[in-house]
Order: sequence, then C-alpha cells, then structure tokens
Amino acid sequence: MTERLRSGTAGTTPSSLYDLLSSRAAQGGRSIAISAPGRPQLSYEKLLQQTEYVVGALNSVGVGRGDRVAIVLPNGPEMAVAFIGVCACSTSAPLNPGYRRSEFEYYLADLNAKALLVQAGVESDARLAAAERSIPVLELHATSHGKAGLFRLTGGTTSHPRRSGIAEAQDVALVLHTSGTTSKPKIVPLSHDNLCASARNICEALNLTEADTCLNIMPLFHIHGLVAAVLSSLAAGACVVCTPGFYAPQFYGWLDEYHPSWYTAVPTMHQAILDRAEQNGAVIDRTSLRFIRSSSAALAPSVMADLEATFGAPLIEAYGMTEAAHQMASNPLAPRPRKPGTVGVAAGPEVAIMDEAGSLLPVDKRGEIVIRGPNVMVGYENNPAANATAFTNGWFRTGDEGYLDSDGYLTITGRLKEIINRGGEKIAPREIDEVLLEHPAVAQAVAFAIPDARLGEDIAAAVVLQNGESLSEKELRHFTATNLADFKVPKRVVFLDEIPTGATGKVQRLSLAEQLDLKDDQRGSQHVELVEPRTAVEVKLAELWKEVLKIDRVGANDRFLDLGGDSMLATRLVYRIREEMRLELPLLAAFDAPTVAAQAALVEQILSAPDAGPEDRHGRAL
Ligand code: AMP
Repeated sequence: MTERLRSGTAGTTPSSLYDLLSSRAAQGGRSIAISAPGRPQLSYEKLLQQTEYVVGALNSVGVGRGDRVAIVLPNGPEMAVAFIGVCACSTSAPLNPGYRRSEFEYYLADLNAKALLVQAGVESDARLAAAERSIPVLELHATSHGKAGLFRLTGGTTSHPRRSGIAEAQDVALVLHTSGTTSKPKIVPLSHDNLCASARNICEALNLTEADTCLNIMPLFHIHGLVAAVLSSLAAGACVVCTPGFYAPQFYGWLDEYHPSWYTAVPTMHQAILDRAEQNGAVIDRTSLRFIRSSSAALAPSVMADLEATFGAPLIEAYGMTEAAHQMASNPLAPRPRKPGTVGVAAGPEVAIMDEAGSLLPVDKRGEIVIRGPNVMVGYENNPAANATAFTNGWFRTGDEGYLDSDGYLTITGRLKEIINRGGEKIAPREIDEVLLEHPAVAQAVAFAIPDARLGEDIAAAVVLQNGESLSEKELRHFTATNLADFKVPKRVVFLDEIPTGATGKVQRLSLAEQLDLKDDQRGSQHVELVEPRTAVEVKLAELWKEVLKIDRVGANDRFLDLGGDSMLATRLVYRIREEMRLELPLLAAFDAPTVAAQAALVEQILSAPDAGPEDRHGRAL
C-alpha cells in the first residue's frame, strides 16, 4: 500500500472514513472493531488492512473516486466492512436485498452504478437487474470460520480508474435513496465530512468510548444502522457486533454472549424485544446495558417506561434522517433529564422551527422542523426542483412538524410530507399507487398510511376498479408483491366507487385513513362470533395465535389481521409454527389463509402431501 494509505492521522479530527480508521488503528490497533456471531473478532489493525485490500481490489478493476458501487449483501460483518472499504475509495450505494428485480433495475440505472457488489454464488434479482444493464458484478467471498468481515473480491475487468487512491473529505461516500412526495425517490449524497460529523455527534451524545460494545440489529442499507451503530462505534474506537439482522428469538442469546453496553433500534423492534422479556429474565439479570437507543419512528412513552424498567437502563430517544446523515436531536444521558414523548435536544446540527414563509418561530410555536450543520447534505442530487423547496435561508426543511420547549427539547407533532413510516421503514405512497395502477382491472388507486399499534403506521390502499371488473384483495396483494418488496405491499385494500376528496377537490392522502374511518382499534370490531377450534391442528394453531397476538381467546373463524396481526407478527407466527409443528408455512399464509380454520387446512394439506418427509415439510408450493 502507498505511503498515503499508511500515513494515518492520529491527533487530528478525521474527515474521511479512511482517516478515521487509520487514526483509530494508530491509537489501538489490537482492540476489537468488529465481532459477529460464531466468528473470530476483527481488530482495528485488520479492519484497516481489509479496507486497504478493498481499495486495491476496486481500483484494479477501474473503480475509483466518484464511481458508484451498489452493494446488495445480507446484514453482517461483511456488509459493514464492504461499506467502509467501498466508501474509502469510491461511493457506496447499499440497497435493500428485499427489493424485486424491477426495483433493482430502477435503482441501478438511477445511480449510474459502475459495479454491483454481491455475495459469491448466490443468485438474486439484483444480479439479473445488473445483467440487464450490463453492469459488472463483483463477488464477495467470505468463509464461515474466517474473521468477522474478512473477504476476497473477484470479478470485473482489469482497468484503471479515472481517479484512484483514497477518497477525501468532500468526496461523496454514501448515496441513499429517500422516499418523497413523488413516486420516484430522491438521491441523498453524503460526503465523508457529513458522515464523520454525524458519527462524532452520536459519540458525543452517547459518551461512547473504547469500552463500549454496540449490538447492531439494524439493517445496514439504512442510515440508522450504518451511522448510529457502525460508524459511531468506529469513531469511538469501540466494538460493534454485526448480527445477521433483527430476529427477536435470537436477540437475548446475543445479549448474553456479547454483553453489549448498548443497542439502537426502531420502536417495533423494542416492542418485540419486550414481548420476550418475561421468558428471558435470567439473561436480563446478567446484562449490563449502559443505555438503549431508539430512533427512526416515534416511541410510545409506555414502551420507553417498560424498557427502562425491564433493563434498568435509560432509554435514549433520538431523531434521525437520511439527509442529516442520521442524528439531529437526542435525549441526553443523565444527569440531564430525558423527556418522554420528545426527541430530546439538538444533538449535532442546529435545530429550529420555521413557518411556511421562512421565518423562525419562538419557543412552543408549532411549525416545520429545520436543521443546519456539517452533518447535513448539501442538496439532493440532480434535483433542483426538490432543492428549491427543501432549503430556505440555508436551513434544510425536514418535512416534519413540531415545536421546541423552553429547555430546547423538541416534540414532533406531525408530518408535512407524504411518506408512510412503517416501523421506521419509509415508503413513498405514490410508488405503490403506480404499481396498483398497472393492474388492468384498476382504474384509480391511492395508497396511504393507517395507524397500527405495532408498526406505528402500516399501508392501506383505496382502489376503484374499471367498470365491470372484479378483483379480490388477495389477487391485488399478490400482484403488488411481484413488483414491490414485501414491506411495501398494502396490508389493507379498500374497494370504493370513488375515492373521497377534500374541500379543494384533491385527494387528501394524509387524512384518508380518517375519512374512510380506518382506525387501528376498529379491527377488533370485525370479530365474527367465536367458533371454538375443532380439530387438533386448529387447537394447536389457535394456541400459537394466542401466544403471538397476546390475546386470551381465538376462534376458528377469526381473522389474523382483525385480531391485531401484521406482517411482523406473521413472521413470528410462521417461526413459532416451524418450531412447534416442524413445518414451513409461507409468510403470506397469514394473509392468504387468514383464519385458524384456513391455516389448519393448509397445514393438513402439507402434512398429507405424499412426498412430505419429516424434514421436508415446506409449504412453498402452495
Ligand atoms: P429516514 O430518512 O428513514 O431516517 O427517516 C427520517 C424520518 O423518520 C424523519 O423525517 C421523521 O419523520 C422520522 N423519525 C425519525 N426519528 C423519529 C422519532 N424519534 N420520532 C418520530 N419520527 C421520527
């Protein structure tokens, strides 16, 4: 490696990810940077060497500064290290592996990706999309027993990049798409400066030191996991445990194995963790969390109180956003007070409240939350129209509404932008409208948010069919699922003769749930008369439903969704069925076979299939 790569910058404030790592390696090369379940740990020294390896490998196939590398990898240490390595010499664009082929095609084209980085030997829609666009594929090879985050790269054709070597402070390190009011997401370019500033802000807000260990359960294609868990830990010289992603049944095992000092998550995950607390009392007694962090969606004060009581650690709610390289505000650690229901005080950038005309408002006055500071992006890429409305007098308009109290604590009161925040995952409703409208039987479609007890919000769609056409909710949901990732598939579809409009004659997407009277608590009112489960399979399934849904009674004809089920709970139900009955139901079973009776019929069908051996009871063909 060149002298430039080896120089290190211990003692100065790092302004690129490479400098950040090399200064940490110079200070404590042997300390552990990255761990992962079942893998030997990776030190700062080795992480720096691996980063330099990635720089060399990418440069040798013509990828250099300013070039975009789309990364589609499962969560875990390789994803974290690939992200850092790609940023160190080019621009990383992590994409959700759950996207469908058409989504990958869109993103790869929009990014003008120079290469796609994927796991070796695994077929995927991302590869098909790259082949369609003649984008070279780089393959990542890791061994299951190798150090966490070590891998080799193959693929590509030997050539010289336009600009080789290490990226600098102003280079764009990371581009992420953000859902907006239009159907097409906007590109958020984040420089090394932005990322380093944000990582430092998080370190300061949380007093992170070399003694900390973060358990990362957040996806590493989202700003929350990348910056709040991974980069903040590396900026502090701390350790981050990179798990394969959030899986409630394994969470307590990881807590016990790694004794992390903190973790960060979205409220839905916290809720799922709390749901399993009772069975894990002994593990909780052995944990020593210094604090727990929550961000990306509103945390109910009751969940905050339960988490604090359960783990005996403060819950720090923070406010983050992709355009701000994540953190904008955070509740402080003791001795300063945490205020439940607020997202805390400005924690990095300046935070203010602005009216529509662009004037800053005084304490207690509601308006749009605006921010400015070194962690905030300079502007959306190639999007002058969006930038013209997103920035006023140097302030970035978040699209969130709120007020500051006299102590400087920020309360979010609503949203001015048309996104759906489904458990922290942001979705542009217009993207769903467009897919629904592609169905030949659909004349009009409007997707919108409905309240959901677990996710905060979930997706519904109001649909008007073409004259004389008929279509079931199930058919339309399946059609959507072939074109959109699972988390974007509407949970509810309401067929209407016409879509209601507001006073101005326009569809009011933000108030459609209210106009159509679709409230979260109404699901209970759709109960049918309780029919006791009849067969042994129905009885067993009803028991599992009760456990997952945390309710006392379940009838054979009750519908999963009506009892408060959602896709997160459906995942848990499928997992419990696998554990208890040793057979694999498809995830959509909770929706397609919506009652205990229908699911029991599905189970009987799988069990009676002639080739269903005890180890091969899969329901995928159904
Ligand atoms: P993202 O770009 O995916 O990080 O989403 C940013 C948006 O998430 C913000 O503009 C808010 O609407 C929402 N958000 C983030 N943190 C919180 C929070 N603590 N409470 C409520 N909403 C939040």
